[in-house]
Formats: sequence, C-alpha cells, structure tokens
Amino acid sequence: MYRQLLNNTLSRSKLKNKNRYSPENSKWCNAICQDYKLINEFSKDKHICKECRNTLNLAETQLTNKTITLEQFKENPNIVYNNILDIENKLRYCTICKTDKNISNFEKTRNQCIPCRQQITKDKVNDSINDILHDIELLKSNLFKLKNYLEKHNRTVITKVIRLVENQMKLKM
Ligand SMILES: [Zn+2]
Ligand SMILES: [Zn+2]
Repeated sequence: MYRQLLNNTLSRSKLKNKNRYSPENSKWCNAICQDYKLINEFSKDKHICKECRNTLNLAETQLTNKTITLEQFKENPNIVYNNILDIENKLRYCTICKTDKNISNFEKTRNQCIPCRQQITKDKVNDSINDILHDIELLKSNLFKLKNYLEKHNRTVITKVIRLVENQMKLKM
C-alpha cells in the first residue's frame, strides 16, 4: 500500500473528484507529485506516475535493507536517490538547451532540464490562453454558445485566463 509510505495522499472519493475534473490527457498522481500529470507518464499503476513508482520501489528496497527509515522517507522522498547517485559530480546533457548541466537540474528520468521544461509548459499555457481569448472574442455575441464553451473548459485554464485579463486591466489603469 503506497499510502502508508506517504504523508499526503487523497482519499478515494477526493481522488475520483480530481480525476473527474482533470485537464485534457492528464490524471492525478496520488503519490509524491500530488498533482496532475500527463496520462503517458503513468504505466500500469492507475494512480501513481512512473517517476513516483520508481521512487516508491527504491524506498521499499531501502526500507527492507534498513538504509533509510520510514520517517526519513516521509519527510523527504528524494532521500532514496542520495543512496544511488552522487549528485554533486554528475552531469547530464539537456536535449533542449544543448548543454551539460548538473544532474540536480533534472527530474530523475528526463533528458530535458527543469528550466527548459518549465519554459515549455509556460509557452503551452500561453498558447492555449491566446486560443481561448480568440474563441471568446468570436463567441461573445452569442451568450448561450459562450456559456457552453466556457463550461467545457477546465477550470484551472479559465482561472488563468481570468488572471491574465485582470493583470492586463491593472496595467492599463
Ligand atoms: Zn507522481
Ligand atoms: Zn535545458
């Protein structure tokens, strides 16, 4: 049972709710992430992404071997990686910015550094926000269609749109 290894997990019903309102192609990782992840980042586990599954597997081995304690793991799940790599000295090549960077800049299984990945996510969100603003502009003369359109969209995205609009209004004031 993965829940026993972790401090914060969602109950069955809360988890169901999260997945009901998940962004497109995503579901909730109920392990260490406690966040939405893309469906292709999950393997056989329904509620645990591959990365967390890997961490939990390492934790189970290290708990059995008594190289870590349950409390240590709960406090800092990344402790399992301290035992298998020397973070200080390892470099990894980022396929986006095309530089060798310290491994602490990477999530365990990725070849793209965290700053690059964050930039990509930001760009994607901005793109979808622009699309939405464009659609709203087209639909605003038909409130019924507009309402349907907004209802179809995930709330997080709509909230971001609202915030963006608010910020732009502030700038103009
Ligand atoms: Zn996860
Ligand atoms: Zn990079």
